[in-house]
Amino acid sequence: MDKISVIVPCFNEEEVLPLFYKEVVHTLEKIQNIDYEILFINDGSQDHSEDILKLLAHKNKHCFYYSFSRNFGKEAAMYAGLENASGDYVVIMDADLQHPPYLLESMYQALKYEDYDCCAGKRIDRIGENKLRNFYKVIQYLTKMDMDDGAGDFRMMTRQMVDAILELKEYNRYMKGMFSFVGFNTKWLEFHNVERQGGKTKWSFKSLFSYAFKGIFSFSSTPITIAGVIGGILIGISLITSLYSSFVHPISYLTSLVLFLSGIQLIFVSILGQYCSSCYFEAKQRPIYIIKNTNKKLRS
Ligand code: UDP
Ligand code: MG
Repeated sequence: MDKISVIVPCFNEEEVLPLFYKEVVHTLEKIQNIDYEILFINDGSQDHSEDILKLLAHKNKHCFYYSFSRNFGKEAAMYAGLENASGDYVVIMDADLQHPPYLLESMYQALKYEDYDCCAGKRIDRIGENKLRNFYKVIQYLTKMDMDDGAGDFRMMTRQMVDAILELKEYNRYMKGMFSFVGFNTKWLEFHNVERQGGKTKWSFKSLFSYAFKGIFSFSSTPITIAGVIGGILIGISLITSLYSSFVHPISYLTSLVLFLSGIQLIFVSILGQYCSSCYFEAKQRPIYIIKNTNKKLRS
């Protein structure tokens, strides 16, 4: 019998967890001939999420929770889920029911009978979405990775694909890039986006912005190449202007040129700094997450 593991990162989701549990268990129990487990990864919630998860785990032997010692972020929560899932097929879903549970059965069929390694949900509209998500187009261009705006983390994967992702042990994690990096055949299932069924989004403008940059710096060195090209162009321009300004009055030109070049230099020092800080964090080899409490034996 095949086993499906459902990974659910949760951060302050007390309002939606009971409804999520009801809908997902109902859907999973309708799929014929499967066993399932639901792994709730409680990412340092400050509300009553952990109490609710303890109750659910007590009520249903297929439910497990892992509570982190603090908030490590959704990337860390997904990684913890993948490391501890024991299913033949593993799916990642948000707790707020924005990822429709009714797709689970079609995802399973695609992997089991159509020879796909991954079946992913793709939003076809953007209700309740932040406009900053247009950043995916920039990330896709810079990283040359196939990352669609509507394509989130909602997907079911085979054990083989999960094991391939677990081989990527880096500290600076960017799951959308990793799905694309490991490859494998993906089937896309479109769905209409809905508002979250309770609680609030955990993404502020600032956190979306830094997540977008994390995506660029973990999967691309194009910004450094761009820095070199712009540096070359500026040297060319400064040669031309210095020749020109030796005939015309030089002072005003020089002041603005120096200011402009200092600005450009600071930007590129900051780009280099981003890569250095990524290396620094990788070199420390700190754990990606720390589990404080669980009702399941840890796999590793
Ligand atoms: N989440 C998490 N840790 C965080 C932020 C979010 O585990 O630090 C979880 C959250 O509980 C939800 C999922 O990640 O299950 C997606 O978060 P959210 O719905 O806020 O994001 P959005 O749908 O707005 O992209
Ligand atoms: Mg959401």
